[in-house]
Amino acid sequence: MPSLIHTLQKIVKKVDQAPDIQSALDLIVENLIDALKIDTCSIFINFPDQLESLVLMANRGLNEGVVGKIKLRIGRGLVGMVAEKAELIRLDSALTHKNFVFFEGSGEEAFPIFMGIPIISQRKILGVLVLQRAEQAFDSDDEAFMTTLATQLANAITHARSSGEMASLLMDETSSLSCTLSGVAGSPGLTIGQAVVINHGVNLYNVPDRRVTDREEIVQEIVLFDTAIEQVRQSLYDQAERMKQSLPSEECALFTAYAQMLDKGSLIDDTCQRIQDGYWGPSAWRKTIEEHADVFASMEDEYLAERANDIRDLGRRVLQRMLSSQVGERIFPEKFVLVGESISATDLASVPLDRLQAIVSEHGSSSSHVAILAHALGIPAVMGVTNLPYTQMEGLIVVADGYSGKAYIDPKQELLDDLQKYIVEEEQVTDSLKELKNKPAVTTDGYRVSLYVNSGLMSDHSPSLRSGAEGVGLYRTEIPFQIRESFPSEDDQYRIYRDVLKTFKGMPVVLRTLDVGGDKPLSYFPIKEDNPFLGWRGIRITLDHPDIFMTQVRAMMRANLDLENLHILLPMISGLQELDDALILIHRAKDEIEDELGQRIRFPQVGAMIEVPSSIFQIDEICQLVDFISIGTNDLTQYLLAVDRNNESVAGLFSSLHPSVLRALEQIIQGAIRQKTPVSVCGELAGDPMGVMVLMGLGIESLSMSAGSIPRAKKVIRSFSQEEMRAYIAEAKNMNDAQDVKGFYIEKLDERGLGGLIRAGK
Ligand code: PEP
Ligand code: MG
Repeated sequence: MPSLIHTLQKIVKKVDQAPDIQSALDLIVENLIDALKIDTCSIFINFPDQLESLVLMANRGLNEGVVGKIKLRIGRGLVGMVAEKAELIRLDSALTHKNFVFFEGSGEEAFPIFMGIPIISQRKILGVLVLQRAEQAFDSDDEAFMTTLATQLANAITHARSSGEMASLLMDETSSLSCTLSGVAGSPGLTIGQAVVINHGVNLYNVPDRRVTDREEIVQEIVLFDTAIEQVRQSLYDQAERMKQSLPSEECALFTAYAQMLDKGSLIDDTCQRIQDGYWGPSAWRKTIEEHADVFASMEDEYLAERANDIRDLGRRVLQRMLSSQVGERIFPEKFVLVGESISATDLASVPLDRLQAIVSEHGSSSSHVAILAHALGIPAVMGVTNLPYTQMEGLIVVADGYSGKAYIDPKQELLDDLQKYIVEEEQVTDSLKELKNKPAVTTDGYRVSLYVNSGLMSDHSPSLRSGAEGVGLYRTEIPFQIRESFPSEDDQYRIYRDVLKTFKGMPVVLRTLDVGGDKPLSYFPIKEDNPFLGWRGIRITLDHPDIFMTQVRAMMRANLDLENLHILLPMISGLQELDDALILIHRAKDEIEDELGQRIRFPQVGAMIEVPSSIFQIDEICQLVDFISIGTNDLTQYLLAVDRNNESVAGLFSSLHPSVLRALEQIIQGAIRQKTPVSVCGELAGDPMGVMVLMGLGIESLSMSAGSIPRAKKVIRSFSQEEMRAYIAEAKNMNDAQDVKGFYIEKLDERGLGGLIRAGK
């Protein structure tokens, strides 16, 4: 049905360009009446906080005045039934259906033919679309069309819901953005701070709403805006001149037309007015551009509608100038929470870490590298907060609960008071753990485990040293590579490795060879793949580039001279051949260094990461080739459960406590014990109190985790006997799913009064 597809595309485009959610809903009902030849069309939105939560928010075809008045509970009436069943319902005679509820004065009785379509996102009912006719039943084409449209509508609603727009539809003008959003727990802890929004790239729609109140600031913003306009205008005239040599004059005219739009007129005047009203330049400009682009976009004439894109393009150019002149002027509050669409490890390098309280990110999950970094810093992180309204959050109070994965944005006073209570308790728990620093990690029945730290994310080793770790169990060498603009030389690398080996002199330090690819890009070594996690990453890259590998292991071995605490770890091993090849190269590097030095050096301990499922089944053979193994539970979980570790849409499925992961861990650890090969765990599970119980139960002797996790892990170890933990895992591995396992371990922790290790407060 090509015409319907065309109609659908047209509606979706209009909805995308609608200035606000109410206009989007109105647009939909209006367009559907025409497209499907129906008599009345309604959209009910679900406001879960209200008892009669389904509220009619848009309608065409019923009597005037029904919008906002018709309300239903889930389960009540036909609309409530659609919401309850979460299924599309088609009826030829709605009025006689037992669930039909008549609303006096609506005029609905004239339209007995009914189709109700649920609007669903991530298993939640967002609303119900209702189409009604006086005659002519709906057919399966209508059904297919509406199902498709409902999925598109779900996107618009989720966005509006998170941005607070939806709530404001029901409230008065003064309503705030105050809301609680759920993401996933990225790094434990509960803290409060003022939002500082990280803005990546030049994207008009990402520009945060920041307020300027001070007269001087307003003048400053206007100057910055004028300067940006002048620069862009000049460059457009210059471009037009240059292009004249190679383009027909009508194409060049576009540049002149662009430039003229910036000479004077409403784009400039409206923006200046908004700045005067207290918006900083970039958001004043964004609002003006959106407004003008929307006017064009809503035009029927295709050519004119396309001009909306020109306006947006112009918007981006000016914005780029404005933002580049703002760099470096940022003032960070005493306590701030870093908020953004996605926050990278390098973003953290550009903020004052002593004031950073938490991270709240729209994208990412608990095993994203920025979450791991937050862990290392002991900072709570809430990841994967779908549709986080970050553009409007600058300066708002945010409470981040890194245990439950909740972000409280601009909480109301009552809620804030409650949260403050928990924050105080949280600080007490953290303080009480400090006294464990110099105590051994030993169970109540005398079983001793070694606790190491994961590092590499920071050049500063002091948090690791302060944590009481007994060495470095995983140094991620890719981070020093990522923060550079080209591959570091052998000498550069020598200095980095020497520094960490020396800092931890006398203790083992595990340096992992370069593990880039997947979600760890190198800007100067771009890799474009459809499936990066199943592609060229880790050892696969370095074996294909022996030059990179050799330089790195040579630097490691040179750094190890006279210290002798180096262990080399090979990431992403999926088969024996990779190990053989890597070992040949490491031997070659050793020979080279010996030749250069004219003396013999000791061959370092070499280990394999067990993080690709294939290695589970060859664990005995792998152990025979290496000196130690280290289990990477982040990737192992990702590959075993087929759940992208960074994808917030499936973050709920990512759990290293899944019984299948537990059984895989058991097989690996048993294999290592059989082969008498030392085995450690360096994925995030190692630092999770419940993970510690699991791994101890499986007989692990060493764990490597973020520095911030060590006190909690120690507390757990010192609170249970190994015998108890063995009994727990025997039960847990036979449970049905990760939820059951989690519930089981929470119960065990609560019984010992240790709930404060896994949730906010005591
Ligand atoms: C892992 O995969 O568990 C791991 C420790 O490595 P990374 O998180 O760096 O991929
Ligand atoms: Mg890994």
